[in-house]
Amino acid sequence: MIPVLRLKRKAAYGLEKIVKLDSNENSYGASPFVAEAIVHGALHPSLYPDSEARDLRKRLAEKLGAEQNQFIFSSGLDEMIEMVSRALLTPEDNIVMAWPTFYEYYSHALIEGAEIRRIDSDKDGRHDLDKMLAAIDESTKIVWVCNPNNPTGTYVNDEELAAFLNKVPESTLVIIDEAYYDYVTADDFPDTLSLLKHHANMMVLRTFSKAYGLASFRIAYGVARPELIHELEKVRLPFNTTGAGQLAALAALQDKAFIKKCRKKNRKVLKIVRDFFDKHGIAYYPSQTNFIYVKTDDPKGVFEHCQKNGFLIRPFQTGVRITLGKKRDMLQLLKVLEEIFD
Ligand SMILES: *Cc1c(COP(=O)(O)O)cnc(C)c1O
Repeated sequence: MIPVLRLKRKAAYGLEKIVKLDSNENSYGASPFVAEAIVHGALHPSLYPDSEARDLRKRLAEKLGAEQNQFIFSSGLDEMIEMVSRALLTPEDNIVMAWPTFYEYYSHALIEGAEIRRIDSDKDGRHDLDKMLAAIDESTKIVWVCNPNNPTGTYVNDEELAAFLNKVPESTLVIIDEAYYDYVTADDFPDTLSLLKHHANMMVLRTFSKAYGLASFRIAYGVARPELIHELEKVRLPFNTTGAGQLAALAALQDKAFIKKCRKKNRKVLKIVRDFFDKHGIAYYPSQTNFIYVKTDDPKGVFEHCQKNGFLIRPFQTGVRITLGKKRDMLQLLKVLEEIFD
């Protein structure tokens, strides 16, 4: 019998159906190429995976126009954030990050005993780069730029990022987390792979967990200059990514149409959701991602109301983050929201 992993704990909530809109997973799944590769591809369960992820490395180097020795692979970006923090941070150092932003930057700096300088986002939910710059000193090892930002969905544009990079001292590493890169549609979004050619103190992070729909495979990568990659490799476990993850990522990269389709569907749903919020005078941040941040003075109340009705969303201090799901589910969610946002 084929075992089944239950993903949705419906029984725990006493519900018929739960729509998971709390972790920004791809609501359309993954490319069919992935299942095909896992079932029929060259997967050898009894052998250790390729520690260097050579096939995936080569493919990404071609795709992104970078050298193969500029890549490092990880078990999701979560592990990358852990590795970078472990390799670079000591209790004498500090990090600068936006607030709110992706929480792992904070938790791993905390584990390494580094000082954490959180800089409030501006009123539009965007990184306040001027204030972040002002917070950097000679002990700042890392400044995190989450672009687009989770949980606000907002972005730093090409001019802003270029100006920022020109001002950050060389002793501080600027790490740009582009987990949602494939959802972006803004024309002025930064081309970080090009910027990397001119800035030694820069690293770009991407993952297969979001638009590629491979969150369960745990595979992501970082791109930087080879000397930095060499430093980071010292803390990487030899088999931190799996053969299945590498194979799935390779298969997913072949299906460009899938990513394009997801981006397009996501944009359509985003428009429906924005129109709804506009109509009801509900404040939200403009999003370049597959989620939207809605402002409310009762995040917990909104979260609980949604959960009671079969929708899992994520509460924050000043609002809730809702992953953009399939149109049918989102239309139902908007009805549920209509009951409380009036
Ligand atoms: C989801 C997410 C990650 C981590 O994703 P992985 O599944 O660990 O690759 C990293 N950064 C941001 C901003 C995210 O939203």
